[in-house]
Amino acid sequence: MPFVWRCCISVREGLCKMKRLLKNCRLFDGVKMYEEPMSLLIEDGKVAKMAPDGVIASVDADISDLEGKILSPGFIDLHSHMRDPGQEWREDIASGSMAGAAGGFSLLVAMPNTDPAADCAAIVKYVLDKGGSQAGARVLPSGTVSRGRKGEELAELLLLAEAGAVLFTDDGAPVSNARLLRQALESTKGDLPLLMEHPEEPQLFRGGQVHDGFISARSGLEPIPSSCEEIGVARGIALARETGGRMHFTHLSSAVALEQVRRAKMDGVNVTCDVTAHHLTLCEMDVWESGCDSRFKVNPPLRSSADREALWQGIMDGTVDAIVTDHAPWHMDEKDLPFQEAPFGIASLECAFAAVWDYKERHYPEITAETLLKKLTSSPASLLPKVWQVHGVIREGNPAHLVVIDPERVREVDCSLWHSKARLTAWEGASLKGWPVETLYNGRIVWKESV
Ligand SMILES: [Zn+2]
Repeated sequence: MPFVWRCCISVREGLCKMKRLLKNCRLFDGVKMYEEPMSLLIEDGKVAKMAPDGVIASVDADISDLEGKILSPGFIDLHSHMRDPGQEWREDIASGSMAGAAGGFSLLVAMPNTDPAADCAAIVKYVLDKGGSQAGARVLPSGTVSRGRKGEELAELLLLAEAGAVLFTDDGAPVSNARLLRQALESTKGDLPLLMEHPEEPQLFRGGQVHDGFISARSGLEPIPSSCEEIGVARGIALARETGGRMHFTHLSSAVALEQVRRAKMDGVNVTCDVTAHHLTLCEMDVWESGCDSRFKVNPPLRSSADREALWQGIMDGTVDAIVTDHAPWHMDEKDLPFQEAPFGIASLECAFAAVWDYKERHYPEITAETLLKKLTSSPASLLPKVWQVHGVIREGNPAHLVVIDPERVREVDCSLWHSKARLTAWEGASLKGWPVETLYNGRIVWKESV
């Protein structure tokens, strides 16, 4: 029986009634970058018209000249931790939504490893409703694969989807029981949302702190081998191949794991994957050079520079489908501890784009803006239920969920100014070039850089 969406996109208060003409921009519409300078007219919160500069009559519209700036669909993050319900001292949906907007995002998928976990319709509905009434980015719920993320019993996936879950994951950990994961793959065939797996072999992860390589040898910290991730990916591919189900691997960090996904895709297995801003821009040497600062402690760990290089190759050849943040905010008292005692996770919503853009420009200038921006817009959108896919492309008639990017803007990361409740990040003090300067949701400015 076809699955029917009972939830609808909540039309938030305050649709922008004003007419606004954004002119003279480099327009990336989610699919392609236009060669000539373009104008875009916003009316009643929607993209009313897009055309080469000078074509749209601008009577009675508020005009902004975006010379030198890129106009793109607002970014979509398939993986952020909003810590709400239950851990609001770390983050909540309101602070996370504003942090997202300040990072250029219009859509954030909240992970379900909250307290309690989003394993029932009521919690999914709570995130959907609260996420739809914020002042910044729209926050969408995901649901767990197993009840309580325990890997013992399948959650009621259909009910979670009907309540608004846009994907299923036991993130924070893998689905611990392969039989259950296989069952979930069978159940999500057809119209149900995507299954997102955090690939990890628990016994190889246990007790680990850093990548098994230079950093573990030098620091004496317990290693997490790349095989920990690779075994998780191999398991997922085997199950997806056998069932014909659709599986998405999140936060890949190892070159071999990415190669596994590349080959599986070539074999026609229905798999996709994402990589994080921190694995694209940092590596184990950053952990070492920081003196093993807990700000660099993350799972999967920051791996070798060769692994990082492989992730960029994956962006170039299309193996990587999306760039995510895995924004994992902690309270200062929890995270500001010696490396061994601190929890895993890097907070990044407000600088993830700048970190990735800056790194690309310095190390991979041959990667086009179009290739990179797709991984933050139309490509992640294509993995979401149909109703949300309009977020990934700019088309006449679509809601105006947009971000203005200034590729020349240089700013230093200062998380004391963040909307997020996190006050520690791996990029603190870094001077990055290329920042979002304005974010619009339904045509309304939800964040603008204060200069
Ligand atoms: Zn994870």
